Amino acid sequence: MKTDKSYIEGIGVSPGIAIGKAFVLKRNNTELTGIELENEESISAEIEKFDSAVKSSVDEIESIKNNSIRTGETEAAEILEAQIELLQDPEIRDSVLQKISEERKSSNDALLETIHSFVELFKNMDDEYMSARSADVQDIGNRILKNLNQSIEKEDIKFETGSIVIADDIAPSDIVSMDMKQIAGFATCSGSKTSHASIIAKSKNIPAVAGCGNNLLQINHGDTIILDGIKGIIIINPNENIINEYSKLKDDYANKKVILQSLKDVAPITTDGRQVKLTANISSANDLNEMFENGGEGIGLFRTEFLFMNRNSFPTEDEQFEFYKKVALKSKNKPVIIRTIDIGGDKQLDYFGLPEEQNPFLGYRAIRICLDRKDIFITQLNAILRASIFGNFKIMFPMIANVQELRAAKKILTETKNELLANKIKLDEKIQVGIMIEIPAAAIAADILAKESDFFSIGTNDLCQYTLAVDRMNDKIKDLYDPFNPAVLRLIQNSIEQAHKHNIHVGMCGEMASDPLATLLLLGMGLDEFSMSASSIPDIKNCIINNSYANASTITKKVMEMDDSKNIIAYLKETIS
Ligand code: PEP
Ligand code: MG
Repeated sequence: MKTDKSYIEGIGVSPGIAIGKAFVLKRNNTELTGIELENEESISAEIEKFDSAVKSSVDEIESIKNNSIRTGETEAAEILEAQIELLQDPEIRDSVLQKISEERKSSNDALLETIHSFVELFKNMDDEYMSARSADVQDIGNRILKNLNQSIEKEDIKFETGSIVIADDIAPSDIVSMDMKQIAGFATCSGSKTSHASIIAKSKNIPAVAGCGNNLLQINHGDTIILDGIKGIIIINPNENIINEYSKLKDDYANKKVILQSLKDVAPITTDGRQVKLTANISSANDLNEMFENGGEGIGLFRTEFLFMNRNSFPTEDEQFEFYKKVALKSKNKPVIIRTIDIGGDKQLDYFGLPEEQNPFLGYRAIRICLDRKDIFITQLNAILRASIFGNFKIMFPMIANVQELRAAKKILTETKNELLANKIKLDEKIQVGIMIEIPAAAIAADILAKESDFFSIGTNDLCQYTLAVDRMNDKIKDLYDPFNPAVLRLIQNSIEQAHKHNIHVGMCGEMASDPLATLLLLGMGLDEFSMSASSIPDIKNCIINNSYANASTITKKVMEMDDSKNIIAYLKETIS
């Protein structure tokens, strides 16, 4: 590893090379900015910003309160009602507004100072009860601050064209709201190939490097940056020779993409005639353009949870219906595997008001939430089923750990279907129902689950983290996150074998499906479908059409006899070079 201060190594999470100016993004700014407002216009804008952050905060707490009422937690609901009152406290607002309009401070600084003085005021009260209220003031202050800075990010930050965004972390909800046209690259201290922000960057074709650790903090706003998303490298303020060298690499990469693009209409068939399906992972109808441009044959994973982000309450059934219908229509009858919401883990919804968990990836997530909160699940199923007549949908449940969950989810689906049909609402009555294989228990018991599923899709992002007990987000243990570990490979192989034994289709929609190093190995295992960010499709197709299934099977046999992933990776590198 290089130790040069101007050279940072991370993980290449979205391929490509970017050369541009650093845009250092600060989130949850708890430091005073010292900004002085220059004119009446900016004063009004800051007041508006503050009021809108308070409104978003009130909406969030309202939504959390309503959840508490629904689940019978009256005490919690009362506390939340008190928080809503505090959020709207006229004295706090007056103080903030006075600092903005008279002292010409930014809304961020005015709020920080106000909350600080109110917290001190409460803390110093003799009455124990009142003194304890200082924590409530701090809490609402933090919430407004978060919304204030979010609104700065989403609406007010004007990224200059070609900016390379530098951040400690980027939440999936942040990245979906950014103006991607202006952004040339992303670099983050934390994260990995399978964190959802990285997956989105890849789907938008924007080079990204994650897991750089604190080394990234030395970068200043406006520094010239080279970001190599293939090798996972950042170079700060490079000299002219290095810029020229990377400009050439950037052009070579772009040319290679154009050559691969010419494979768009070529069928993904091996030299000895085995055909597989290459499909795309999407999160909205917009992503379908890329799927068609890259010659994708449909959607292997439609992550629906992104519709639920960047808002203050759950989307209604009609809103969801419109969103899914758009995908159905735009997909031109190509198959679309629509996955029911997978919230939790790194995809949190502020307005849902879930208590913080010690291990969110092992906690209240995905199908577990849907089986517990049937209202949320049924609303989504209604919307999906209503939209199903406009395209070729298949429904997929995430995070299935056992057959009881699958049966329970299918029972709710059947009841929802029957109810709609009883109300004379049209839907695709034969819609297929499959599951993600992303928990080791599901991969081990694939024989049991295959009997009651129409298809499998292997989610290696989670399967790998759960099998190896390695948090997919944690850059400190990034070297332990290893899809080529023999244990992970055995689980994948078993899932494929059991699916075929029970005559069901098996795909893969985790990031491993887009790794050319894994293509022949997976092909040799018999995988039927590879689903990935659309931009990776040509690369994987190139690998399939230039190899034989017989050769892939030999490679798989050899790999499955090997006992350590270092040797497996070295062997696979050798075979594809
Ligand atoms: C996976 O776990 O591999 C997967 C595709 O699901 P997600 O990345 O959305 O958790
Ligand atoms: Mg998953």
